[in-house]
Amino acid sequence: MDMGIKGRTAIVCAGSKGLGKGCAEALAAEGVNLVINARGVEALEATAADLRKRYSVKVTAVACDVTTAEGRAKLLAACPDPDILVNNAGGPPPGDFRDWDEKAWHAAVEANMVTPIMLIKATVDRMIARKFGRIVNITSAAVKSPIPNLGLSNGARAGLTGFVAGLSRQIAKHNVTINGLLPGPFETDRLRSMLASGAKASGKSVDEVADARRKSNPTERFGTAEEFGAACAFLCSAHAGYIVGQNIVLDGGAFGGTL
Ligand code: NAP
Repeated sequence: MDMGIKGRTAIVCAGSKGLGKGCAEALAAEGVNLVINARGVEALEATAADLRKRYSVKVTAVACDVTTAEGRAKLLAACPDPDILVNNAGGPPPGDFRDWDEKAWHAAVEANMVTPIMLIKATVDRMIARKFGRIVNITSAAVKSPIPNLGLSNGARAGLTGFVAGLSRQIAKHNVTINGLLPGPFETDRLRSMLASGAKASGKSVDEVADARRKSNPTERFGTAEEFGAACAFLCSAHAGYIVGQNIVLDGGAFGGTL
């Protein structure tokens, strides 16, 4: 299926590894030119070079912390006018809510709520003027079903989801959409570090914890960044203009609701 976005330009935040990289790759495969970002230069440049080589699209790498105003300014200077924006950043740390002070809450809200909102604000009006825009926020299955030790994520991402639920309906008439992709367990560095902290807390090995986690999922496996990227590319496609303000859970069926 041709996604109808060849020649478009996308910003993919936090796109050097994991789910962001999966999205960048799926968009590159559709002929989308990319501006990708991460803090670490080495992995970012390696991903950019790999995507350029394999997909013959233009890939600009912007090394910065997207959760800071300076980082976002650098990213937008490289690409002030994207057709597609994939919002993503690292997730907040796990823990007990008694240990999180105001600073921890401000950091989580800045990274996982304010940052995507600021990038949407900076780009959405030109998408509206052009009558095409696709914005995908990578959040978490925790938005649908809170994860007890990820309270910072549950809270900050729910805030973003609430804001875009309203905004997405205000701008849909201009063929500009905003949707959320809510990952369950995908095999990335983030998951591996969560499994390691689970192993430490329980006294089990990382392999034991990973096996139990796989078996607890209806698919009995973790998701892949390629699967995640394919869903993102479809939401960014020319065909997806009627998918508005949705929060699509990609979790192998782990969320047990009928709807
Ligand atoms: P990952 O494999 O650890 O990759 C994170 C990517 O984000 C890297 O490219 C990293 O590069 C970049 N990054 C992190 N902080 C950044 C920042 N402040 N500015 C710019 N780039 C930044 O993580 P992932 O699994 O893809 O997770 C992506 C998002 O989905 C996270 O918010 C995570 O919490 C959420 N999520 C993941 C899962 C899962 O199972 N994987 C489940 C639910 C939710 P640098 O470190 O070099 O900056």
